[in-house]
Order: sequence, then structure tokens, then C-alpha cells
Amino acid sequence: MRARLVAGNWKMHGSRAANLALLDAIVAGVGGVECAVCVPFPYLAQVAERLQGTQVAWGAQNLSEYASGAHTGEVSAAMLAEFGCRYVLVGHSERRQIYGETDAQAAAKFAAAQGAGLKPIFCVGETLEERDAGRTEAVVARQLDAVLGKGRFGDAVLAYEPVWAIGTGRTATPEQARAVHGFLRQRVGAATRILYGGSVKPQNAAAIFAMPDVDGGLIGGASLVAQDFVAICAAAQTKG
Ligand code: PEP
Repeated sequence: MRARLVAGNWKMHGSRAANLALLDAIVAGVGGVECAVCVPFPYLAQVAERLQGTQVAWGAQNLSEYASGAHTGEVSAAMLAEFGCRYVLVGHSERRQIYGETDAQAAAKFAAAQGAGLKPIFCVGETLEERDAGRTEAVVARQLDAVLGKGRFGDAVLAYEPVWAIGTGRTATPEQARAVHGFLRQRVGAATRILYGGSVKPQNAAAIFAMPDVDGGLIGGASLVAQDFVAICAAAQTKG
């Protein structure tokens, strides 16, 4: 039985004061479901201090594929591990689209994270143009195979995030999510958790989480609103 996971992606949002209020409310409100917040690098120390000893885990949103050295501005997997990160997002579509991260680079980052004992949350997803061209499966398979070709998925987490649903308010229908999750399931096996991400809100979370092969969510905008994030965690917890 796969334990459900709800992970928040704060993106480039936050301030020390706002973070504290948000974390307090999440810790107080979250039920028994496994959850995590992936925060900007400068806030890792604050988050580690506040969440230590609670059931809320934390992680980062990116990492370097290199272990150390002359890589100005980069952050290594070992550094994240030192700050108690359990998770790190890898291959988020904003990294791929805005910063030109390639499949090979995402796969190298995945390996670096695993090498440091972190659990990557590996993101795959198609653009609207790719979906309309009937290429959804080919695209997510290509992104995933970059990782599978280099080694085992292990206890990493997979996230299906259709690019057209991220931050747009347009969610995949539960049936669209089920179809892609089923396709991904065949490739990664029964043990891997597959999260859905893309405009998940309290209003649509339960229907998406009810689908087979959907093991929780990766939540962007709604993870910054404590009562929404807590409600989404509750929806994940009540799944049969
Ligand atoms: C994300 O950034 O991973 C995401 C799913 O964002 P949103 O929930 O805002 O669509």
C-alpha cells in the first residue's frame, strides 16, 4: 500500500514572517497524511527549525547536478541534506521551460539527489501543444526514461504535472490524470508514489485523489494558503 503524500511547492514566494505564520497553521491543521513543503533555499534553516519534530517534512525546489566546485550560485545535494531536507523537486516544468533544463540535466540532478540520500520528486508533463498533437505519452516517457536509463527510480516520487495546468487554474480532469498516471505506473512499478500537480485546490482535490494510481498531489499556489493546503491534505487522507 502506497502512503499518500501532499507536497507544497512555494516557488519564489515567502518572507520570514509569512513563512512562520504559514508553517504554524500547517503544523496545527494537518491531519495524519504525509506532507512536505519545498521552499526557497534561504528559508531552509528557518523551515528546518520550525518543522523539526513535526510530521511535516521539507525540501528544496532545485539542486546542482555537481557535487561541489566552481559552480557559482549553485547548491549541492549534500548541502540540502545538511539542512534536513527529505525531498527535492527535480525537473519542474519551470526549470525546464524558463531555465532550459534538459532531460539529461534533470536525470543528473536526480542521481545527485539520490546519492545524497534525498528523495527526488521528479516532475514530468506535456505542454498543451504536445497534448493537442497526441504526444502526451511520448513526452512523459521521454522525460522519465532519461532517469530510468541511468538507474533505478528507487524510493523517489514521480509527479505528473501537465504544463498547461500549472498556475493556470485549469486542472486536468480526473480521467485525464488517471490515464497518464496509469501509463506512468506501467513504467515505474507498483511501489512508486505518483503525485498529480496542476491547479489542485480544495474544491477539486478529492476527485483527483480518488483516481487509481494517484497517490497525492504536488501543490503550487494553494500551498501558500494555509487553510487550502490543510484542506487538500485532508482530502488526501480520506481516500479509501
Ligand atoms: C507547481 O508549481 O508544481 C504547481 C502544481 O502549481 P499550481 O498548483 O499553482 O498549478
